[in-house]
Amino acid sequence: MFSAQPPDSSRRAFLRVAALAAAGTLLTCCKTPEGAKTAKGGALGGAAAGGAGSALGGGTQAGGTGAVAGDGAQPPIATPPSEKIIDRPVPPPKEPAVRVKVGGIVQQKGIEVGAPGQLLSVKVDGQDEAFTRVKAPAIFTRTKNAWTITPHGGAAKRIDIAGDSVLVVATLGTAHEEFRVFGGVWPGVLHLVPTNAGADVIAHVPLETYLAGVVAKELYNSWSLEAHMAQAIAARSYAVCEEARWEGTRHFDVHASEASQAWAGKTEHAKSIEAVRRTRGQLLVFEGAVVPAYYSSCCGGARANAQGTVTSNLRHDIAPLSSVGAPRGCACMDFSPNARWTVSLPLQGVSQTLRAWGPVEGFRELGSFSSVRTLEIVSRNAAGRTERMRVAAQGNLVCELPAERVRWALSADPKNPRVSKPLKERVKSGYFDPRIEGAALVLDGYGFGHGVGMCQFGAEGASRKGADARKILARSYPSSTIAVAYG
Ligand SMILES: [Zn+2]
Repeated sequence: MFSAQPPDSSRRAFLRVAALAAAGTLLTCCKTPEGAKTAKGGALGGAAAGGAGSALGGGTQAGGTGAVAGDGAQPPIATPPSEKIIDRPVPPPKEPAVRVKVGGIVQQKGIEVGAPGQLLSVKVDGQDEAFTRVKAPAIFTRTKNAWTITPHGGAAKRIDIAGDSVLVVATLGTAHEEFRVFGGVWPGVLHLVPTNAGADVIAHVPLETYLAGVVAKELYNSWSLEAHMAQAIAARSYAVCEEARWEGTRHFDVHASEASQAWAGKTEHAKSIEAVRRTRGQLLVFEGAVVPAYYSSCCGGARANAQGTVTSNLRHDIAPLSSVGAPRGCACMDFSPNARWTVSLPLQGVSQTLRAWGPVEGFRELGSFSSVRTLEIVSRNAAGRTERMRVAAQGNLVCELPAERVRWALSADPKNPRVSKPLKERVKSGYFDPRIEGAALVLDGYGFGHGVGMCQFGAEGASRKGADARKILARSYPSSTIAVAYG
């Protein structure tokens, strides 16, 4: 949800940087008044694993955009960190399967798969229909270059499979595929994919089955059916776009967490199942292609642009994900506990965090910010939400970056800046008014999450005032329409 994401995105060179410069989204980091100083921005776009969000968890802090450059009219081009330009997909003609990463296997540390009494089939991917029967719960262990499977009943029946094969694990003799692993129950067929660290555990699950577990986890179960239906359509659209994004380049489409969308796995929550059933195959579409329907917990009354906040893919720079022309005000302000918040951060800690986070994320100059003096708003978007900010430190050091990145930076663990602090210690959004009070940086903030697309508290608030799912989505993603891709 809020943790630093690994650098998933690929990079595109000059054209992308030129486009960012034209759009005014280049990040600048420089020393003043000496003038422009170029930093390497290689890792900057690395956080582009744009997640959707969560009413419970506040959404992701994804979205790496822009390069690091000097502050002249023609900024020098540093390593261009940008997402590959990937076209939005057309609605799929039939229900697709989605590949969900549910966890990882550390080398030499086995994981238990399956429930007592279950019989598993284990197939080496790419080979014919031959498979091995394994009694569950079985222990799957990955060594440097082999698999070991220890079926229920003892080590005497141990199975060794040499090499880097992907293991495909299915259940035998049951109507529904589902697995007990990592303390949860996950529908689908498991693919165990070797990695440098061990292996990834990926559930291949029909999209509609997956969505019930998303909706159940993303919203408060007591919320209205209409809000659940709006959530189902948004989550379905987001998942379809993630499938298109990662096809052929990564062995999974989404994480089973708020890094993409929260996922409960198997769910029995009747309202979530009903919301998915009633909206089966329905997708948000704009100009014939699916909208990557980002959403977050609470917009704080002003929505964010997707571009520069959660994505740098130029194909996502579209009306449904823009703050321009979006409706003003949001029902979230009436009842979200995070509609307004204030937090006070010791300046010394802020300096320490920025110093650790900056170099890791490509803001090399932040590495020498010994003592932060000010944090100021540079610009707001069309909805009035904070868009860009400037931080200054002793020694005339200045760095300018998107507000969402400031949120991310201030929420990083200074000891391990790729990881976020515990949830309670994180900054809730990039929408805040900063001020210095003595030795503290005080933020008067609004909302929870990145603020792009549907506001979950706003959706529930609107439904309480009589809005149905269609109306909620029309307001959340202006100019989009709902298409039924498959029945
Ligand atoms: Zn809102």
